[in-house]
Amino acid sequence: MTPADEDDNASPRPTRSPMLAALITALAMAAADFLIAFPRSPESWPTLGEILPSMAAVAAASFVSILLLWYGLLRGLARRRSLEEQPLAAAAAVFLGASFALLSAEGLLGPELAAWGGLGRGTVSLVATTALARAIYQGLTRPAISPFLVRWGGGLCHLLPAVLLLAVLAAWYWNPGRDPQLAPSGGAALVGAALLAVFGVLARRSSTRTATRLSAGAFVVLLGAGAVALWNRDPFLKTRAERRAAGDPAVRHVILISADSLRADALSAYGAGGAHTPNLDRLAADAALFRHAYSTASWTLPSTASLLTGLPSFAHEVFWISSRLADEIPTVADLMTEAGYRTAAVTDNPVLDPRLNLYKGFQEYVHYPRPWPWTADAAGRRLLARLAPSRYHRGGTEEVTRAARNWVDRHRDEPFFLWIHYFDPHAPYSPPERFLPDGEAPPNIGTSFDQHVEVVAGTRLLTRDERAWIRQLYLAEVRYLDEQVGLLIGELERLGLYEDALIVFTSDHGEEFWEHGSYQHGHSMYDEVVAVPLLVKFPGASHKGVYTPRVSTQFVLPTIAELCGLQPQRSCSNAPSLAAIAAGLPSADATTLVQAGTCYQEELEAVIFGGDYKLIRRLGTQREELFNLRTDPNERRCLLASAPATAEAGRRALEELRERSRKVRACYQPAEQQAPEAGRERLRQLRSLGYLN
Ligand SMILES: [Zn+2]
Repeated sequence: MTPADEDDNASPRPTRSPMLAALITALAMAAADFLIAFPRSPESWPTLGEILPSMAAVAAASFVSILLLWYGLLRGLARRRSLEEQPLAAAAAVFLGASFALLSAEGLLGPELAAWGGLGRGTVSLVATTALARAIYQGLTRPAISPFLVRWGGGLCHLLPAVLLLAVLAAWYWNPGRDPQLAPSGGAALVGAALLAVFGVLARRSSTRTATRLSAGAFVVLLGAGAVALWNRDPFLKTRAERRAAGDPAVRHVILISADSLRADALSAYGAGGAHTPNLDRLAADAALFRHAYSTASWTLPSTASLLTGLPSFAHEVFWISSRLADEIPTVADLMTEAGYRTAAVTDNPVLDPRLNLYKGFQEYVHYPRPWPWTADAAGRRLLARLAPSRYHRGGTEEVTRAARNWVDRHRDEPFFLWIHYFDPHAPYSPPERFLPDGEAPPNIGTSFDQHVEVVAGTRLLTRDERAWIRQLYLAEVRYLDEQVGLLIGELERLGLYEDALIVFTSDHGEEFWEHGSYQHGHSMYDEVVAVPLLVKFPGASHKGVYTPRVSTQFVLPTIAELCGLQPQRSCSNAPSLAAIAAGLPSADATTLVQAGTCYQEELEAVIFGGDYKLIRRLGTQREELFNLRTDPNERRCLLASAPATAEAGRRALEELRERSRKVRACYQPAEQQAPEAGRERLRQLRSLGYLN
């Protein structure tokens, strides 16, 4: 990148300037692409070995594209119209820059067009790219550009990036819930400021030699800013106050792992019909395996709220897509933070939106709502993923594992509580190649299935073979999840934390495959959707084996509280601890237990009572079903007509559960809350995941 000519009055060599423009723009685009991938959580920072090939891929692709565009189209156009070559070359660069920026901000061309997150970042990158390329190019070929363009181009180069950068930073700042993944925007601001400073100097100086030096400087600053951001890996603590435990707690490390849409019988530890999951088998061998564990709802939000608060959904009332958890209701994170544990969450289901207050109490959280535009990988990384998928593909699940492992590594010397929620095996089922099932995929489906919305809506009909294949794809995702959990547990072992840690593995709900005519989840209350795996690896594996009492994921919080010696300021719930159940102690609440939940299509309630009975009630049609789960685990024979007294007992149990939940809620005295409005983009996003009609 030497100056074309040091004499300000001479024209640059015409054959060289398009090459120069292409080279400069290509480098600038690689830098911008790096920026697009930049404002993400440091937990998931790629290594230099990943960044450099990605930047090289973008630079090479841009360089070739610009030259093709120039020699194939624009040069002829410029000659025919007697236009100056340089501005047209710059226009080509701008066009390419825009295309790449759009490409990088994934989803911009789809329904998420208006999502400000992607748009904002895309815009910043676009403007930064073009302004940078333009400024450098202008500096190098300045004499050939008319004074008018120099003045106005220079002005715009300053103004646009400044205004847009400020606008986007402001939007980030005021983003409700202030996603921590956006917090490293401090680094982006630094880069932006550096660029502006360079542009400023460039516009004032006319010497091409100075411009060249400054341009080179701009790249150094750009990379330097990235390095600073890498170095400063702890920018998103909710509070920086150190909350050391007063003494050494009984259990120093607590890890809660939940997988989305994982039905209990999908794991080999739960039976022979599922996927082969050796890593979870290994965990199960050291753990108490609860054979009959239930979630409190058939979809993510209410069941996760129960997992974190230890309350039934009637009590926490987080059962609509935009329900917000009341501030007054403590979560397990509140209690653990209060007790001096370092607390963090790593999640990647878009439904677990920070605005819903579920991360209340966590000192740190990393939320990857991965299908959303701003989690898009850099264009370069995606280009490489397409060219060499086995090497460069990085799914959300892998990112979650990586973030969790990094976090554990950083905090291994402190008492900590880490919650990890994996989105897999949730639909779409797109397992990595290495986990694909054997056999030939049906022609209309392939190796990835994402038409769950159409299937549930009835507009996509499936053959028996197709259904079987879809289930195989799901099980392949379960094997993928097993691998990832294995990596996480391997890290705990490597750090010597495994033995004494309390590790809970569970799921938010199951997944149905037409056992009762329906598909996916959230539409029914049968066991395929509400029975979940529950493994509790106690410190020192003090209780292990298979336990058969029917338990709820609500019992996880009391278990952690008991083992960690937490003393909540106010406890309104008396859900039992799994430690007590594993020890065989009679538990206060184990007779009329388990679940009641609301659903996002026709509302449903269910209660498991009297040991083995389940009553399901549809609130719209008032239709009821009654099953004996012991004699009829597949819920085929409805006993409503033959056992009216049992059905009546079930109705009473449901009423009692409601009444108890009402008292529990009143005990916390929650203030009336305004639910955050589910924005149009969020609704679209949720719909695409199958959450709304
Ligand atoms: Zn879920």
